Amino acid sequence: MATAHLISPFIFRHLNIPKTGTLIFDPQSSPASSNLQNGPTRMQAHNRPARKNPKRSSYGTSRRSILKKSYTQEQVVFTTPVSNDPVVGIIGGGMAGLVCSLYLEKGGIRSTVFDTGMHGLGGRMATRIYEPQQLIFDHAAQFFTASEPQFIELVNRWLENGLIRQWQGIIGELEAGGQFTPLHSSSQRYVGINGMRPLADSILSEAHMVNVMRPCWINTLEPFNGKWHLSANGKLCGQFDAIVIAHNGKCANRLLSSSGLPLIARQMKRLELSSIWALLAAFEDPLPFPESSLAFPFEGAFVKGIDAVSWMANNSKKLSANQGGGPHCWTFFSTAAFGKRNKVPQENIPNTTAERVKISMLEGVEIALGLSEGSLKKPFYTRLQLWGAALPTNSPGIPCIFDPYGRAGLCGDWLLGSNLEAAAISGMAMANHIADYFQSGGARPDDFSVGLHTEFQQLHGFDIGQFPGLNPEKRIDNSQAYCVSS
Ligand SMILES: Cc1cc2nc3c(=O)[nH]c(=O)nc-3n(C[C@H](O)[C@H](O)[C@H](O)COP(=O)(O)OP(=O)(O)OC[C@H]3O[C@@H](n4cnc5c(N)ncnc54)[C@H](O)[C@@H]3O)c2cc1C
Repeated sequence: MATAHLISPFIFRHLNIPKTGTLIFDPQSSPASSNLQNGPTRMQAHNRPARKNPKRSSYGTSRRSILKKSYTQEQVVFTTPVSNDPVVGIIGGGMAGLVCSLYLEKGGIRSTVFDTGMHGLGGRMATRIYEPQQLIFDHAAQFFTASEPQFIELVNRWLENGLIRQWQGIIGELEAGGQFTPLHSSSQRYVGINGMRPLADSILSEAHMVNVMRPCWINTLEPFNGKWHLSANGKLCGQFDAIVIAHNGKCANRLLSSSGLPLIARQMKRLELSSIWALLAAFEDPLPFPESSLAFPFEGAFVKGIDAVSWMANNSKKLSANQGGGPHCWTFFSTAAFGKRNKVPQENIPNTTAERVKISMLEGVEIALGLSEGSLKKPFYTRLQLWGAALPTNSPGIPCIFDPYGRAGLCGDWLLGSNLEAAAISGMAMANHIADYFQSGGARPDDFSVGLHTEFQQLHGFDIGQFPGLNPEKRIDNSQAYCVSS
């Protein structure tokens, strides 16, 4: 016989949701396991008509309708006891999702990580390798620092296992015209051996309780019979006792817009993200630094005073692929302001925009280095990419968000800041919180509600993130500023 789970007025009060009608979640009217497209909707409020055209997915709907939907959707409430051997579905296999699954395993909890990556896991830990020329570029995260003890512990394990190494190359600030100031760093800087993506792909190499599904784009969340059913294009991918959304931006807003998690959806929608252009360029010869800088050939620089460039790094040197001759692979990032002004759909960049951006960025590099106009030799290889949802610019400043009634959580860099360390700490916190919640049997949900109403604050840092221990304020004095222009 079907049992119906009623949302009590108490829960509406507690969750601060307007009581728009009693939601009955009828386990027998499920859907996902049989036929997602044609079956009854996963939950139906009595005062809400069933969808007229069940084939029309919520994807492709306008941003306005997504926002409206997330505010009016009803809250899912799981009332079944938590299973003895619970499984968590993690949507997103970047640093946050991977570390979350690793720490769930530490707590004896199984999980599946779903990630869209075609070439590997990692999300914004992204590396491109072009054979046969041996070109290698990290084209998002360049390096990371570790300041929190929990993250330092993880980083030390990666060092022992040979997944990362310290990046000793000189980095600093480069003013337009060629003035270079090395940055004093009180924290070590780390890079993945062979790049960031190989690190991401290795994080779970010793995990036994984590299942990875890639490439897999989860686009439906359905609560049924005490579990979350996750599907990709109508195909059921698994059933889970709790879910973690470990990605953000437009994709997450769409996924959450009709999920039955209005508080989670609202917090996700408060997030604001910058856009950054990445230009990967390979040169036959080293970049022509003037003689005055040869004593301090930097490998990475935060560029100041140039709209089109905020960071440049010699990825060949950084990744040890080339310490002498051979191609010289540089990654250049634009400023967020330039990214915003030149924003286009990232999956479909018009050629004219791509050409204009590329020219502007290469001119910016020339100016940054204090070179005369037109003297920068053309790279023999370039590739341009727009990170449309690059970095968070605001944050609730809490390690994770959890809705115990909907058994769903959020983790990612943006919860705490804008860097890999923030993402990892958030993943750990999410895992530990879910482990504690499961341990409680789900009997005291109120005790486990986290961050559902926390306000956001603006984030400050470099355009490509925050690096604790590497603040411009802490740079060494001007007597150590070196001019790279002659
Ligand atoms: C240009 C740039 C430069 C940066 N430089 C640095 C740096 O030098 N140092 C530093 O510490 N940080 C840097 N960062 C920030 C750093 O990359 C991020 O903080 C970190 O990678 C975020 O990790 P995450 O797990 O929170 O999210 P992500 O890495 O974005 O992971 C989310 C994952 O979820 C997947 N996903 C999305 N939707 C779905 C779906 N529906 N189904 C399945 N999977 C899905 C995505 O494909 C992605 O793999 C930089 C970022 C950018 C963009």
